[in-house]
Amino acid sequence: MIYFVSLGPGDPELITLKALHTLQRADCIYTPVPTTSKGRHTSKAAEMMRSLGIREEQIQLYDLPMSKDRDGALEAYTLVADEVVRRQESEPEALLVIVAEGDCGFYSSSAYIGEHIEARGFTTHQLCGVPAFIACNSLLGGQLVQLEEQCTVIPGAATAEEWSRAWQSPHTIVVMKGSLCESEIKEAIQRYPERRWHYFEFVGMPKEFVTSDPEEIQGRTFPYFSIIISKCR
Ligand code: SAH
Repeated sequence: MIYFVSLGPGDPELITLKALHTLQRADCIYTPVPTTSKGRHTSKAAEMMRSLGIREEQIQLYDLPMSKDRDGALEAYTLVADEVVRRQESEPEALLVIVAEGDCGFYSSSAYIGEHIEARGFTTHQLCGVPAFIACNSLLGGQLVQLEEQCTVIPGAATAEEWSRAWQSPHTIVVMKGSLCESEIKEAIQRYPERRWHYFEFVGMPKEFVTSDPEEIQGRTFPYFSIIISKCR
């Protein structure tokens, strides 16, 4: 069996019981370690699983190059898919898990790995988790959307027209991958002061940072793990 298991946004207590039980039974858990020009970083996913009692020998780390050029990451996903298929062919009874941050069906790298595995004739299963933007809203309290409001999610990149349509709408706008659109967000905060602006970094992790103060947001350098939620109320 091949499972995509969602880990949730970072706080180990936000994983589902179903995901935890599947990790506990897994023979191998394919886990990304971000790499940059500075070398290997710590794997948040691996640290979280260790804190939940997952055994070191279950965790199989794979390097995931983090850069705007996606070629390295795509190559890494292909290598993982090949390895998962090879292992499943030689051990059909093995329970193999590929972990994903947040929910594995929401802007997740699992998509690329899954496509490769399915193309090789294997079926994959998916366990849902708490997406980061849902965890962000619970830090604010209240409703992300209510009554007739709509919610638009922008994954960091959009056309100038899409941005201005979003800000001029009466709806809730969630922006993921903050590092890709820092200047657009900072400009919009100045142009649309009537909207409420909420900013989140590394939710559920030790370096979590949250602010709803426009000036404080202007002073931040947005990391990749940031989310902006803008509401009209
Ligand atoms: N599958 C994930 C999203 C992956 S896309 C989910 O369900 O949440 C990656 C983006 O998610 C990051 O650029 C960031 O915007 C957001 N993200 C994921 N985890 C986060 C966290 N703990 N804190 C803040 N943003 C996070």
